[in-house]
Amino acid sequence: MGSNNLYRVVDYVSGREVTPRGLVFTGRDGPWEVRMNLDLIASRINPDYLRSAPALVSKYLPFLPVKDYSNFVSLKEGGTPLIKSHKIGPELGTDLYFKVESKNPTGSFKDRGTAVEVTVAKELGASAIAVASTGNMAASCCCYAASQKIPCFVFVPEDVPESKLAQVISFGGKIVQVKGSYSDAARLAEEAAERLNFYLAGDYAFRVEGQKTAAYEVCEQLYFNPPDYLISSMGCGTNISAYAKGFNEFHELGFINQKPAIIGVQAEGAAAIVKSFESKSDTVLPLESVDTIASAIAVARPLDGLKALNAVRESGGFALSVSDREILEAQYRLSSEEGLFVEPSAAATVAALIKKSREYDFQGAKIVCVLSGDGLKDPASVLRVALKPAAVHASVDEFVELYESKFFDGRTVAFIENSEVLFESPPELEEIAHVIARHFDASYPEEYLDEIHLRVMQFFKKGKKVTFADFQDILQNTLESVRRRADVRFKVRDFDVRTAKDTPPDARVFVEVDGETVAGRARGVGPVDAVIKALRAALQNRIEFELKSYKVDIRSRGTDAVVYVEMKLNRNGLVSLGRGASPDIIQASIEAFESAYNGFYEHSEAGSLSGGLSQ
Ligand SMILES: *Cc1c(COP(=O)(O)O)cnc(C)c1O
Repeated sequence: MGSNNLYRVVDYVSGREVTPRGLVFTGRDGPWEVRMNLDLIASRINPDYLRSAPALVSKYLPFLPVKDYSNFVSLKEGGTPLIKSHKIGPELGTDLYFKVESKNPTGSFKDRGTAVEVTVAKELGASAIAVASTGNMAASCCCYAASQKIPCFVFVPEDVPESKLAQVISFGGKIVQVKGSYSDAARLAEEAAERLNFYLAGDYAFRVEGQKTAAYEVCEQLYFNPPDYLISSMGCGTNISAYAKGFNEFHELGFINQKPAIIGVQAEGAAAIVKSFESKSDTVLPLESVDTIASAIAVARPLDGLKALNAVRESGGFALSVSDREILEAQYRLSSEEGLFVEPSAAATVAALIKKSREYDFQGAKIVCVLSGDGLKDPASVLRVALKPAAVHASVDEFVELYESKFFDGRTVAFIENSEVLFESPPELEEIAHVIARHFDASYPEEYLDEIHLRVMQFFKKGKKVTFADFQDILQNTLESVRRRADVRFKVRDFDVRTAKDTPPDARVFVEVDGETVAGRARGVGPVDAVIKALRAALQNRIEFELKSYKVDIRSRGTDAVVYVEMKLNRNGLVSLGRGASPDIIQASIEAFESAYNGFYEHSEAGSLSGGLSQ
């Protein structure tokens, strides 16, 4: 069932022919490989057709281990664009191209390999498919299995978040949560496949055959003049070895005269293969743990590590790692300068190119960076560093003012973790301006800086250091309130809340409204409720309102966490929104109340359509 005259299945290290265990095509202690009969391929292909037909995996059927072409399971994978870089490439003095593998049916290059795996599974009469994966591999296998109505079992460790499995769930994948680690899930998938005659899909021998077609396409798209360098990220190392195989086969078949040097990239927190490359080792040792934002290459035990190492070495290339920050910066540059939104594991290739060009001469080189997966696969990675968007009332004046404040001149992301402490001790005004320039690439007018400084100092008064997330909220709240300052008719001067066991809290407030100072007092079920009731008491006979919604969000952990409050007040069906942020929930609530309440004045002055009001 393994080999025939079209291909042989061999042990990768010894080169000896192997016999599959049922439909499991992998060794117990090392990877296997499919070796195609290139003489037979040469006799099967029509070079004219090959040169003229548009790229698509199915066009390369004669190169694939598929007996009957009519069995081929295809969703039109492959044929992905090779796009010339118009910004990053010229800036580095290189002829740079992106192989946009995110444009495959499920959003990653895995579909090329899956098309072949599911075809083989079908040809061998598999009753089901088993795969151990949490990500793109599982999504791809379930998709192709669904198209053939073959059940697909996905084995995952128990603690995997469901959000990662959304694609799998919608393709009807049968998820099995394994009480144990990822390795336990992988072993169970293998044993279940062996016992029940399921086809074991994953980073195994047949997958490489589908994925090597990407290398064929790169050659064709460059008119059979391959690049000097091809840069691919490495998780298990399967895809990079597939590229090497594709280039080798095209070379042996005489379609190309030279082969690219292959550069392999891993994340610093998951760099098993890079470590072996750097220490000139011939084995790839598993890591104890991995830590990177690039989830598709967060692999502790790279199954095809040795193949990847050889692909890099034999091609005269090298391997390097990049930090999460470098990855996120490259991801943002790809989106904002080239119009390509890819996931972190894909952006790692561009991060590596940018990093390496500082010490290595790529001048004039023709380079292809593989962009392995779509940005939509992992929006959370972007949102982790995204700056909050500005909020304005539906008033064009307000928008113009924000526009003129230079708010939009900055970036939309900052490459810093939200939990990182920005200010350990009370900063000077200049320090704040410096931080804004550095992290937000922006500069604000003096009046904004004064107000930001004031708010930062309030955090220190409460005994709280200011994290990046806190600072973002301070910035945003300031921008909103300074824009409105002309309209501030109401301000809470002071408050006092008494709470004790078994009695309702008692709040007193002193507010300034229309130049007059008034006081209010009330009890409530909790301290915030008491304060709101006291405010209502102080404001009676003025603008009548009702608390329409009150939302609290605590984004960091610990007892000194900052509390974000969003409050909506309702007045005769008109709703005004206010926000506040403080380590103190009462203070945050008061801030939110102030801005919401002032919104009513804007409304009454500006006529029925402006202000932060909606019907
Ligand atoms: C699977 C995957 C990788 C890693 O590929 P390997 O074959 O495991 O080395 C990189 N990027 C994306 C988007 C992937 O889905």
